[in-house]
Amino acid sequence: MNKKELRLLATKLKNTEIENPIHIMEVCGTHTTQFFHTGVKDLFPENLFLIDGPGCPVCVTPNGYLDRAIEIARTHGVWLVTFGDMMRVPSSYSSLQQEKAAGVPIHIVYSPLDALTLAQENPEMQVVFLSIGFETTIPTEAVAVKRAKQENIKNFSLLTGNKLTPPAVEALLGSGEVKIDGFILPGHVSVITGIKGWRFVAEKFQKPCVIAGFDTQNLLVGTMALIHLIQNKSPEIVNEYSLVVTEEGNVKAQEIMEEVFEPTEAKWRGIGNIPISGMDLRNSFQDFDAKIRFPVTPPREIEPGGCRCGDVLRGLITPLQCPLFGKKCTPENPVGACMVSSEGSCAAYHKYQRF
Ligand code: SF4
Repeated sequence: MNKKELRLLATKLKNTEIENPIHIMEVCGTHTTQFFHTGVKDLFPENLFLIDGPGCPVCVTPNGYLDRAIEIARTHGVWLVTFGDMMRVPSSYSSLQQEKAAGVPIHIVYSPLDALTLAQENPEMQVVFLSIGFETTIPTEAVAVKRAKQENIKNFSLLTGNKLTPPAVEALLGSGEVKIDGFILPGHVSVITGIKGWRFVAEKFQKPCVIAGFDTQNLLVGTMALIHLIQNKSPEIVNEYSLVVTEEGNVKAQEIMEEVFEPTEAKWRGIGNIPISGMDLRNSFQDFDAKIRFPVTPPREIEPGGCRCGDVLRGLITPLQCPLFGKKCTPENPVGACMVSSEGSCAAYHKYQRF
């Protein structure tokens, strides 16, 4: 699509007439940020509302996970290895950044395979990777664990907090707490799950949905397609990211995930326990489970006072409705995880819609 066509599409979205209010949810944190960043959210016509979903892995990881990680490092003297976004997330009593400043060895990596390399290069240290991915990163974690097993690497383990996104959407729809007329589904997760991973949204809950990519064109086309489905009362799933998303998804990635991990119940910040929404290591890979290798009793989990991350993640409020937003809670001094992560709704609102 050239610039002229893009401009025409933008005008078309802006001038779309919507009689009855339509509430659409973008499940994914990358979409949350991109709707702001591309300016597509500013083109929303009257009566079209965007609700942010629970698709940011850092945001939905409960404090208890970080509490355990910190306790493992303090008790067992291991190296914690993490993605950078996790550093400033407040735990119940501290954060990885504070722990690092206090001398706890914490390393930042860009991939689970980097963590494995760190372990190979430092055989005298126990390396614990903080594994809190969605479908987009779990397969690479599986590759790292398989490789560690094949190469008999004894100083590498995962602290698993992985999550699957379709069960969270199912839990939100099942709760009936929030009015959602349709979904913009994450393109990158769908590359792995395939269209079939989301069919329940249309078939079981009768909600239209569109799988979309992340650039301006993807968001414009995806939003227009979703409005069309909703206005025509068509509970279908449309794939607007067909260049990379197929019906079956990435079968190889699914297979390696299945081989190394098994679906379990998982706790989501603000949502609670959701059946078969986590991915824990299977028995045959338990030697790489940091929970087993480094037993600890974490302190009592507490949520930061006044933080409404849970309500934001369930789509019940926008970040602007949190009394702490922009006052006590800012990106420089975050109170909750949603203000820290680059994919967090509160961080996105603070960056783009503060005024
Ligand atoms: S603005 Fe801060 S305190 Fe409020 S919900 Fe977001 S992260 Fe929590």
